[in-house]
Amino acid sequence: MHLTHKIALRPTADQADYFVRACGTARKVWNWALDEWGKQYAAGGKPTAMVLKKQFNAIKYDLYPWLKDIHRDAHAQPFAHLATALSTFFADVQAGRRGHEPRFKKKGRCRDSFYVANDKFSLDGKRIRLPKIGVVAMTEALRFEGKILGATVSRSADRWFVAIQVDVPEHQAQRRRTAHGTVGVDLGLKSVATLSSGESIQAPKPLRAALRRLKIRSRRLSRKLEAAKMAAGFTLGARLPKGTQLPVSNNRRKSTATLARLHRRIANIRVDFTHRLTTTLCRENQAVVIEDLNVKGMLANDRLSRAISDVGFVLFRQQMSYKVLRYGTRLVVADRWYPSSRLCSACGWKNEALTLKDREWTCADCGTCHDRGFNAACNLKRLATETALPVARPTGNGGAAAGRVLAVAGKVTPVSDECGQQGASGQEETAEHLCSPFR
Ligand SMILES: [Zn+2]
Repeated sequence: MHLTHKIALRPTADQADYFVRACGTARKVWNWALDEWGKQYAAGGKPTAMVLKKQFNAIKYDLYPWLKDIHRDAHAQPFAHLATALSTFFADVQAGRRGHEPRFKKKGRCRDSFYVANDKFSLDGKRIRLPKIGVVAMTEALRFEGKILGATVSRSADRWFVAIQVDVPEHQAQRRRTAHGTVGVDLGLKSVATLSSGESIQAPKPLRAALRRLKIRSRRLSRKLEAAKMAAGFTLGARLPKGTQLPVSNNRRKSTATLARLHRRIANIRVDFTHRLTTTLCRENQAVVIEDLNVKGMLANDRLSRAISDVGFVLFRQQMSYKVLRYGTRLVVADRWYPSSRLCSACGWKNEALTLKDREWTCADCGTCHDRGFNAACNLKRLATETALPVARPTGNGGAAAGRVLAVAGKVTPVSDECGQQGASGQEETAEHLCSPFR
């Protein structure tokens, strides 16, 4: 099982300077490759990333003489990344999905990182030896044992990290469950998650406080930017012509750094919170049922987008996908058409009039008063048991699936079953499959 351990680094000033240059190199090479690919594709060619890499290698030292100072992994890896990005994009387009077109990386706007191959670095306790710069101190030693696959050095605000990818043997990656329940999880906006056990989980308070602070700090920074614009002779709120470089004052630089640190803090709180939640769910249950929220579709909805990104649905799904494998927990993902919120969990009546705003509703058939989240969680839980309520399955999900559904004596279980431990034919494949749609 592939696991990644991300460790903070304590580079010297010279080493940090090298990191910045290596990241810049990776970004430059990516942009060159993407630009060149676009040109050749427009001219009717179908250049593969590997062909581009050969072309780049032939001219790179003439083009960028400073490349000689940077280890070659940093300028070779972007081609592999481009190959992956392009093949995912074309596969998405072919399958009728809206794919993510590879985009140019902008300095300061993208996540700075560069790659080091596994044979180019070595570990010794809390120290890592990297090519060109030697030993860099780490804040902790690598936690996993197994075959080391590679490392990525990246920056988050003013700190540097190394993420080491390790192929951990299955038996070592397995974790023991402490309980064997079955739980339905309804992810929501009011409370982050409502469980079929009745528990309602709220977003951590520090996160809410930090988000409030983020608003204030962003406003401060944008005011400084406006002031700089006015000083340069532009009118208030004017759009700058492309390529304009405004002088950066010390205050603005400080403000930018503060904002970046706050963003990192928010990301940290969010990741930590989601890790705790997903670990608990996997550790205490033999089956977890979640909704297949069409995150992309929901993000397109402007009003909802902020709230959704805040609770980190995507993060939740990503972490669940690999943790179920470690705990041997069954992850059941409800069909995105399964009306978990609309069904009465007591009698099965479907409330067609339910809107997003309704937090509570009463069943017109049996009179049960429902809390929206709890009712949905109960309906989801049913999907992992034999008592799923009958619902109409929409057409267009494939004839074979529809036939199988009818065979279950009218009881429709609109689920895709994603097994953990039980996956008989190739676990790695399962893991890959689980992770890929939620990059
Ligand atoms: Zn009812």
